[in-house]
Amino acid sequence: MDKETFRKYGYEFVDWIADYFENVRQYPVRSTASPGDVKSQLPVHPPEEGEDMSAIWKDFNKIILPGMTHWQHPGWFAYFPANNSPASVLGEMLTAGLGAQCMSWETSPAATELEEVVMDWLRQMIGLPEGFRGVIQDTASTATLTALLTAREVATGFSCNEKGLYRYQGNSEIRTPRPGAENVPGEETATGHYQKEENHHELQGQFPAEQSHGERPGAGRVLRVYASSEAHSSIEKGVKIAGYGRENLCYIPTDENYAMRADNLEQAIKKDLEAGLKPACVIATIGTTSSTAVDPLPEIGRICRKYSLWLHVDAAMAGTAAILEEKRDMLKGAEFIDSLVFNPHKWMLTNFDCSAYFVSNPEHLIRTMSINPEYLKTSRDKQVNNYRDWGIQLGRRFRALKLWFVIRQYGVNGLKEMVRNHISMAQWFAGRVNDSRGFELMAPVNASLVCFRWNDGKTADKELDSINRLLLAKINESGEVYLTHTTLSGRYTLRLSVGQRTTEKADVERAWEIIKAARDSP
Ligand code: PLP
Repeated sequence: MDKETFRKYGYEFVDWIADYFENVRQYPVRSTASPGDVKSQLPVHPPEEGEDMSAIWKDFNKIILPGMTHWQHPGWFAYFPANNSPASVLGEMLTAGLGAQCMSWETSPAATELEEVVMDWLRQMIGLPEGFRGVIQDTASTATLTALLTAREVATGFSCNEKGLYRYQGNSEIRTPRPGAENVPGEETATGHYQKEENHHELQGQFPAEQSHGERPGAGRVLRVYASSEAHSSIEKGVKIAGYGRENLCYIPTDENYAMRADNLEQAIKKDLEAGLKPACVIATIGTTSSTAVDPLPEIGRICRKYSLWLHVDAAMAGTAAILEEKRDMLKGAEFIDSLVFNPHKWMLTNFDCSAYFVSNPEHLIRTMSINPEYLKTSRDKQVNNYRDWGIQLGRRFRALKLWFVIRQYGVNGLKEMVRNHISMAQWFAGRVNDSRGFELMAPVNASLVCFRWNDGKTADKELDSINRLLLAKINESGEVYLTHTTLSGRYTLRLSVGQRTTEKADVERAWEIIKAARDSP
């Protein structure tokens, strides 16, 4: 592509994004595509010859856009947000333009030093004690896996990395067949597009939970990890990948507000110690996915200190709320934390991906992750931070740039204002639910998520589940809003999560109208 064509499309795309920001509400929030709709329009084989950008751009609009769900839509109330902002998109554009791979200080000193600075800004913003040091990870899942690996090493005197896992199950390789291996992949249709019906996704999440082929105890004690029964699935995934074994993730019961019961945690640790197991790590959640429940950090922290356990905090969504003085209590007990993650890519206007991971002592992390082959050594290694030693991957994107743009362009006060507005909109909505006969709140509103359901007070729970499932489907049919669900105490629960940059009070009011209309429609 010559410079002039690049310029032409560059301007055109920026214009398009600017219009998209303004007009995103014209699209249905959730894509109306059916499975296979997009793929069936795409050629099976890559083009032999380069194509003109005008053709690619045309197909973006015709094929890709209708298959997109619009996370930046003001009617986005699903899951948690993944919001962006003009400042972050501009920063991301420069990152892509620079195209640097920022694994070491020397491979781009500005990337490393800016990351150190913006992470320290974030530390100050959420009120973590001095001495905590930060690194940007791609996601909270990766950060939590990193914490679990570090906790494993700390609990075993850094010997798992050297000698392998102490105790493991299974003495024969277990491989499940590659899903769909028997099919001819990507069979061509007469039009040269992918067949629509090709489908082997039913296997996802269907692998058997246990495939025990007999135990082979190693030299060490079995390591145990503790998290509340409301903890995010990334914890279970991390426990599996880090070699603890899923059965060594001990789920601690929660109280009536879905927060971990610290007394039950201590009992579980004591029981494991008596059984000869080795408690290694506790993961506390500040803002659970289902209901933004807040685990009692000071109590959990004291228990971790007493038994010398690693304390990791998953504050993926709600960590951002700690920038508000009135929400600082969420991180009370921070002095006990060994590691913490929260996601600026959720609720801090920094487009995906950008996850902030903090450790109270980087030495443990670096010792766990560091590998120093000759070809990566530089003359500055003793003077600088090489962030490649702070995580799993070697290659690193320059993510600090977009975060720097965002924090500078909004200022801490601008970010606070957005978070406060979202919380107040959620409170307003919770008030409507509370005041209305036929709806009920299902959990306390700790940040900007409201959990609720329809309940006339006369219908049995099981039937309420089906009614609320239908209600959610009707609400989402509107195309104006998108809500998702969870279960709380086994009851089907609707979630309205406020956190999109463009959402205004009128959008939450409209959501309430749509919800009431869906309830009243036959
Ligand atoms: N932890 C919590 C509490 C979450 O709510 C989520 C996602 O919503 C995650 C972890 C996973 O975040 P990520 O997609 O950054 O891995």
